[in-house]
Amino acid sequence: MKTIGIIGGGQLGLMIAEQAHVLGVRAVALDPAPDAPAFRVCDDHIVAAYDDVAALDRLCRMSDVVTYEFENVPGEILIPLCGKYNIPQGYKPLYDSQDRLREKTNARNHGLQTPGFAAVDDEASLRAAVRELGLPAVLKTRTLGYDGHGQMVLKSETDIERALPLLTVPCILEEFIPFDSEASIVMVADRERVVSFPVGRNIHRDGILDLSIVPAAASQEVLDRMKAQSERFMRECGYEGILAIEYFIRGGEIYFNEMAPRPHNSGHYTIEGCTTNQFRELVRYLTGEPLQEPCLVAPTVMKNILGQDLDAARAVEREERPDTYVHIYGKTESRPKRKMGHITFVGITGEEYERQWADRFVR
Ligand code: AMP
Repeated sequence: MKTIGIIGGGQLGLMIAEQAHVLGVRAVALDPAPDAPAFRVCDDHIVAAYDDVAALDRLCRMSDVVTYEFENVPGEILIPLCGKYNIPQGYKPLYDSQDRLREKTNARNHGLQTPGFAAVDDEASLRAAVRELGLPAVLKTRTLGYDGHGQMVLKSETDIERALPLLTVPCILEEFIPFDSEASIVMVADRERVVSFPVGRNIHRDGILDLSIVPAAASQEVLDRMKAQSERFMRECGYEGILAIEYFIRGGEIYFNEMAPRPHNSGHYTIEGCTTNQFRELVRYLTGEPLQEPCLVAPTVMKNILGQDLDAARAVEREERPDTYVHIYGKTESRPKRKMGHITFVGITGEEYERQWADRFVR
């Protein structure tokens, strides 16, 4: 029996482990938190810091193949391990995605359209970037940003002063795209092929994903172009394993926003909404099994459950409704903006969700 090692024990690790078990594969995870969600379902686990070299080495020795479930694993940790152990996704997709400037430059170099952008390090380069890109514009830290953290929209010249405190770390200024919608695609690639999951529309609230609605609200031509360009991008970059790309759609234009070389929150709907899911195909890739092309079972809506919605989610679970799948990650501490679970509604559209379900959760 094969064993997958997972660096990180959050909900993504939990769902990788669950799908590993479906395919008869063992899973072990390493995480600094003794109560990490993935530990409850893993066959074994290691409580250790991500920079604990001896512990990571142990994880690799316990595993036939190793993957990561979060994107900020430092290169100085992963690169030496990649030389010694079987970590087939390697460090490159992480490296390319860990810095927003490098990430957008790489996307553009491989033919993807991005919002206009410029590096910003101080007041002078911020003012120069504003002159070049115009306002409104979005200022973001280059590294370690997530769920809208470390970002600020600049609407007028007076906002430049307010933005100066952000410049203690290297930043990027981006052209503001007044998009019609946001969308994402999740792909899994081995040496032979790339399979991709149906594109979902993503609705964020306070910078955090709230809903994924599948299929996405865009013309078939735009969705086909997004799939084709994303698969070509993954191939041309030489990435294997799993990759998610987030886009803005405006009219017929598709703008690359960001990517992540791990299972993606917007792909959770695939567990029940598709014939195979993002976690299962990642496990197939890791264990050298042939990939399977996913199909959408029915229109599907995924609702993220943050701390403030946990009681409502439990109430939905007790109703035992068909085609309504409540996932609670079992995090010991619930906080208002913390992702505590998700619910997948199979067989309903975005409009039906709004009518039947939206009022059950905090607005
Ligand atoms: P990010 O962390 O880069 O994904 O940004 C979080 C959210 O901020 C995105 O999902 C968008 O809703 C919004 N956003 C980020 N960058 C831009 C942009 N260049 N134009 C318009 N909205 C943006």
